[in-house]
Amino acid sequence: MKPMHPLFVSLSIALLTISLVLGLDGEKKKAERIVVLTFDDSVASQATFVAPLLKKYGFGATFYITEGFEFTTDKQHYMTWEQIKELHEAGFEIGNHTRRHKGVAGQPLAELTADIEHIEKQCEAHGIPRPTTFCYPAYQTSPAAVKVLQERGYRYARAGGARAFDPKEDHPLTLPQAFDGKPESTLEQFKAAVAMAGDGKVAVMTFHGVPDIKHPWVSTTPELFEAYLKVLQEEGCRVIAMRDLDKYAKPN
Ligand SMILES: [Zn+2]
Repeated sequence: MKPMHPLFVSLSIALLTISLVLGLDGEKKKAERIVVLTFDDSVASQATFVAPLLKKYGFGATFYITEGFEFTTDKQHYMTWEQIKELHEAGFEIGNHTRRHKGVAGQPLAELTADIEHIEKQCEAHGIPRPTTFCYPAYQTSPAAVKVLQERGYRYARAGGARAFDPKEDHPLTLPQAFDGKPESTLEQFKAAVAMAGDGKVAVMTFHGVPDIKHPWVSTTPELFEAYLKVLQEEGCRVIAMRDLDKYAKPN
């Protein structure tokens, strides 16, 4: 048999390498689901139970801090600023959920701005970086709030909803959640929310306390919560904080 021309051999190897790389890359993109975990309302169980468990799984997350409800007086059920600082030091993101947890649509601009600024100042006072992501109290958005957040340099803000965040379609300052952990939520619903991620879309999951003693209507049991985390692990999801969207979700 006539030996192959060396040029033909190297050309074949080059083509094979290119197709392998493209094939693997395509597969990787298709398989990797991006999931953002968010925890609202500064609930104490987020520091005592949620954060250590997330560490065990190697997952990122954002904790949306408000001084609303009984935050300033009830330190049994709400985190201290020291605990919030520890979350930051453990690598989690501290996000802004406003001082008083009021619906932004009903707030005069000066009041809303002051409520946002208060959390920024508290972060600064406790050695926590100024938040760059936001969560709307009671899922209520307003064009004025979006403008304020934009002016203050916020990059992402989570509203309510039940669908994936599509960085190509959705405004990053009113992005939707895919799942909202409630006592009646099921593992099947969580799996369906995870399945919404992919093809450039991101599933943003909302939780409150695990458990949430003071707000039982948004509570998740520790058992069910760990079952959710196992799903994320089994599905090979990349579980990140909201601020990390810069790396994984490129808006148009
Ligand atoms: Zn809230």
